[in-house]
Amino acid sequence: MIAMDGPAGAGKSTVARIVANRLGYLYIDTGAMYRALALKALRLGIAETDPEALAAMAESTEVELQRAPDGGNRVLLDGEDVTAEIRSPAVSAIVSKVSAVPRLRQRLIEAQRALARAGGVVMDGRDIGSYVLPGADLKFYVTASLQERARRRLAQLHEEGHVAELAAVEAEIARRDEQDMNKGVHSLMRLPESIVIDTTGKCVDEVVEEILRHCRRK
Ligand code: C5P
Repeated sequence: MIAMDGPAGAGKSTVARIVANRLGYLYIDTGAMYRALALKALRLGIAETDPEALAAMAESTEVELQRAPDGGNRVLLDGEDVTAEIRSPAVSAIVSKVSAVPRLRQRLIEAQRALARAGGVVMDGRDIGSYVLPGADLKFYVTASLQERARRRLAQLHEEGHVAELAAVEAEIARRDEQDMNKGVHSLMRLPESIVIDTTGKCVDEVVEEILRHCRRK
């Protein structure tokens, strides 16, 4: 079991997916699960400030991850493929608030632990090493400078056909960092045992090789 935590836009999911493929492990994108619930809240008009309604919604919702041909995750929301839609700026804007609801988290965390039970997983998120899989064999904290994370996120948004500006993306990521670091036991944090990987100025291959070197050493 490998836990990979870190802030938004650090390149975690790309790297985690490739590392999982190289090791023959299953990649699990926990952020995608929170995004699916945020999308459902948007569709139903449930405010991100209404924890009761969000918890009730989560308890009657099925979120499923399937392995895509490239080793990434297909995300099913009540059986509907929402893989592309969960990346929209509207979802990104509310997902941190939505994911702060304890009962909603509990439901997804149970599913995440069940997926990891058989071992052989690379799980990416914010509270994986600290809370979801505290017994993980290796824990990574993948990060990069705010400016670089904003640039990468902007490029990704443009690729997906969204209109966005660098300053707005940077502000959104900074706001999400702040929220993600203030979620009690689920806060994004560097654990003493985590291996810190700073991806600033590095290409994907370089980061993948760095992580695999740590895995081989283990
Ligand atoms: O990883 P990604 O940026 O797609 O995650 C979206 C949001 O979901 C994060 O900003 C965070 O608020 C939330 N999240 C979380 N716990 C996780 C994974 C993601 O609270 N394990």
